[in-house]
Amino acid sequence: MSEKRVYTFGNGVAEGKAGMKNLLGGKGANLAEMNLIGVPVPPGFTITTDVCNEYFEKGKEKVVALLKNEVENAVHHIENLMNCKFGDVQNPLLVSVRSGARASMPGMMDTILNLGLNDEVAKGLAEKSGNERFAYDSYRRFVQMYGDVVLGMKPTNKEDIDPFEEIIQQVKAERGIKLDNEMSVDELKKLVALFKEAIKNQTGKDFPTDPMEQLWGAVCAVFDSWMNERAILYRKMEGIPAEWGTAVNVQAMVFGNMGNTSATGVCFSRDAATGENIFNGEYLVNAQGEDVVAGIRTPQQITKEGSLRWAAQQLIDEDVRASQYPSMEENMPEIFAELNAIQEKLERHYHDMQDMEFTVQDGKLWFLQTRNGKRTGTAMVKIAMDLLREGEIDEKTALLRCEPNKLDELLHPVFDKAAQKQAKVLTRGLPASPGAACGQVVFFADDAARWHEEGKQVIMVRIETSPEDLAGMSAAEGILTARGGMTSHAAVVARGMGKCCVSGAGAININYKQRTLEIDGVLLREGDYISLNGSTGEVYLGEVTTQPAKVTGDLAELMELCNKYTKLVVRTNADTPHDAQVAHNFGAVGIGLCRTEHMFFESEKIKAMREMILADTKEGREKALTKLLPFQRQDFYGILKSMDGHPVNVRLLDPPLHEFVPHDLEGQQAMAAEMGISVQEIQHRVNSLSEHNPMLGHRGCRLGNTYPEITAMQTRAILGAAIQLKKEGFDPHPEIMVPLIGVVHEFDQQEKVIRDTAKQLFEEEGVEINFHVGTMIEVPRAALVAENIAKKAEYFSFGTNDLTQMTFGYSRDDIASFLPVYLEKKILNVDPFQVLDQKGVGQLIDMGVKKGRSTRPNLVCGICGEHGGEPESVKFCHRVGLNYVSCSPFRVPIARLAAAQAAVEE
Ligand code: PEP
Ligand code: MG
Repeated sequence: MSEKRVYTFGNGVAEGKAGMKNLLGGKGANLAEMNLIGVPVPPGFTITTDVCNEYFEKGKEKVVALLKNEVENAVHHIENLMNCKFGDVQNPLLVSVRSGARASMPGMMDTILNLGLNDEVAKGLAEKSGNERFAYDSYRRFVQMYGDVVLGMKPTNKEDIDPFEEIIQQVKAERGIKLDNEMSVDELKKLVALFKEAIKNQTGKDFPTDPMEQLWGAVCAVFDSWMNERAILYRKMEGIPAEWGTAVNVQAMVFGNMGNTSATGVCFSRDAATGENIFNGEYLVNAQGEDVVAGIRTPQQITKEGSLRWAAQQLIDEDVRASQYPSMEENMPEIFAELNAIQEKLERHYHDMQDMEFTVQDGKLWFLQTRNGKRTGTAMVKIAMDLLREGEIDEKTALLRCEPNKLDELLHPVFDKAAQKQAKVLTRGLPASPGAACGQVVFFADDAARWHEEGKQVIMVRIETSPEDLAGMSAAEGILTARGGMTSHAAVVARGMGKCCVSGAGAININYKQRTLEIDGVLLREGDYISLNGSTGEVYLGEVTTQPAKVTGDLAELMELCNKYTKLVVRTNADTPHDAQVAHNFGAVGIGLCRTEHMFFESEKIKAMREMILADTKEGREKALTKLLPFQRQDFYGILKSMDGHPVNVRLLDPPLHEFVPHDLEGQQAMAAEMGISVQEIQHRVNSLSEHNPMLGHRGCRLGNTYPEITAMQTRAILGAAIQLKKEGFDPHPEIMVPLIGVVHEFDQQEKVIRDTAKQLFEEEGVEINFHVGTMIEVPRAALVAENIAKKAEYFSFGTNDLTQMTFGYSRDDIASFLPVYLEKKILNVDPFQVLDQKGVGQLIDMGVKKGRSTRPNLVCGICGEHGGEPESVKFCHRVGLNYVSCSPFRVPIARLAAAQAAVEE
């Protein structure tokens, strides 16, 4: 750990820089960098993320003692640059204290503004600024924030309101006023007194008057907030390790609430929802930081173009817009010009879309933050491709800029155009985060999470959201808020999550107590259905049907770019012609796994299948198999046709047979009648199939080896379909795969059945098909003796679901009973059935590939377990030299991008 714990910046000089994100956090590193490139930033200092870890190791007292000298010197550094003094009555310095982790975690941790005020300093500030209202407004905000964050006054129960907000409501009610800014100076002073009284009553302690004591309280509270519940939840969702810690940024305050020549705002160099290259953002005149994001006042647009668009969406007339909600471009043209120039400079400097915060104090512009903006999946792709076209970044950078998992959002269904036209529009809000969503209305985050767990789709409806709502937002299909703009908490978080969100739908009235929602006379209750269009801001009554997304435009171009760099081929796991077609449209070139058992579950097929299983003689089985053959052939015909010209890897029957037989009396009676035997006989046979450990029992090639007639029938069906297609002029490439082998003879005896059956069929039909016979490597022993298996098998496909199950000894079907505890206790970092265990299971894959190719150098190797669509696992597959990955259709573009990134990263 470095001994330097505090890094200063200000006036064009900084001890840190952009590359030091790990140590200074994103905010701290960028504040330093902005200084270095001449952007006006209030001076300050950053306490490193290492100190955060030290804080949790050594405790508060020790860390404060370690920091004391450096922090005091850094405070003097700010005093010198600002020409004022912390705690001074005539010429006071006030500071802000903010968190700032390596990865941005919007709204997760705590911020304290206006620190350094007490009764005397407030009086001094009033005199110095000549603006008493500003001084006491700042003071009451400080006491409130400090009370909530540092002194623990913020309520933890969702039904309780903030004690300070309650006092504000009382004071306003006494005079019959509505808005905060209508309060008189005396009322602001009264608030301060009442706030302090509430603090004393609740905590038993006086509000601290010594600015240094206030500063230490705030610094420690920011560190503590790294471990608050919502920050922990956010880290879990985003995969951010706790060890990263947060930095603390202390900066000279600049004030957006000093009157009408002051303002505060948030802006983006491009549109974070759509990715369009349009400078946009929101600001509020005479307001302080949190007012814009908190959604309490309606923020105004930065640009005139944005303002006109906003007014059109909100159905606001031009004269009202121009007089009450003018854009910054119209209202403060000079400041706007400066802001616009700096945002361009920052985007060019970082070569990426920037999300910036600024304050205007008495006509002077200050930047408080810049960072690479969070964006939707759509915006991610558009911005990367636009920056590439503009020459700002190269192809490889464009590929690496896109997060594979985020492509998922672009592949979600969109509203069916016809259904959307018919739908009743209830109201309109802001198109805060695009997409289509429909579900049942819920009002509280915990309900959203619970309903979601019960398998329901919900839309979370709130007046405005706060970080406490995170779990609910994550569980919901979409989010609707009554208040808040495009940079409100709901909008920013929803975009980060890729969730559809309509914010600031002013016409909705929410009654939390009665759990109702009223829109223009339509009353909706909890549980009623609504639909949201996050791209237009429309809210519809009921469920609006959706249709699948398509790969077009920038996404199609990105996919082309992937093809240019990628070495891994991406196939799909598909069991129906429809799924195969969907995957083909997403760019899958072949099928890596067709699980034949999924085809058996339709009515006629399941009957024949059951008959086959329940028969206790070879003749009985063959009779039933003859019934199954045409069904199977038809299924394979459709699949081979939809992947014409590409390999289609069909796996022989795999699951334990008891999965197919009826376990209920009614089903057993039906089977008895069908087969002309007694129910008792059926029951006896069903019972005899029961196993103590079916996953390790009579399944996989153990079925084909005990009942070779099943293998023969499936071979006939696969190759018969191929022959039919070939006769029709198609170009089928079937592959036949033997599952679950561990011993080479399990493979070669099955292979013999397949080859003999093929020979016979080709003679009967007078047509030959070129086909391959391969195997799955999913039993650890198979990986260990892969060189022997490869002498016989023409290809390997790693079945990492079973391989994970048998390597860890965790049941695929029962892991849920202990996985949460293992994750909680950090015995495991992730679910190994979702993310490939590269160290253990990966070693078996690596070994299997090497050993296999030692006896068959051109051995084709692929993966068809769930991991084949998980980006990190795909990259691993690239590194160990697999030829292809195979994944479910909707993950194909994700795997394609991950595969291209793996090649570029190499
Ligand atoms: C596997 O085990 O990884 C596999 C693909 O087969 P299944 O999931 O059908 O057992
Ligand atoms: Mg398997």
